[in-house]
Amino acid sequence: MLSQTMQAALNEQINNEYYSAYLYLSMSAYFEALNLPGSAKWMRAQYDEERTHALKLFDYVNDRDGRVSLKQIAAPQMEWNSPLSAWENVLEHERGVTASIHNLYALAVKENDYATQTLLTWFITEQVEEEKNANLMVERMRQAGTQPATMLLFDGHFTKRGE
Ligand code: MG
Repeated sequence: MLSQTMQAALNEQINNEYYSAYLYLSMSAYFEALNLPGSAKWMRAQYDEERTHALKLFDYVNDRDGRVSLKQIAAPQMEWNSPLSAWENVLEHERGVTASIHNLYALAVKENDYATQTLLTWFITEQVEEEKNANLMVERMRQAGTQPATMLLFDGHFTKRGE
């Protein structure tokens, strides 16, 4: 069975994942408003992915005979200065998520909770991918700079996500 401390920390992470989903859905609306459908689609796919992260933790807490407690999801930011600044926010946010996953892992080690360590290994690997993708997007946006044609070219490329 999960310790109370581990259970509380996992419940906190469920909330973090839902906040991530909400943040990316807000970014999807921002890109829709800018008429960048590829970027909007990318963020919407990211929204779906974050919900699967939350549910993975949800299922795990239940499987370990724990008790899920859902908390209020904070309202995400709605506007960004530019597509570049939105993608920089993604990178910064994912680095924060990585730190919280690492803290959870450290707690699981401290508590000799091997099952939770195994679950978190998946999340640690996933975060490497998330940061890699965000980094790539930030680089592309920097390359596009203020050239609308390059931005549209990248946006067209982003529509291929999930196909
Ligand atoms: Mg996540």
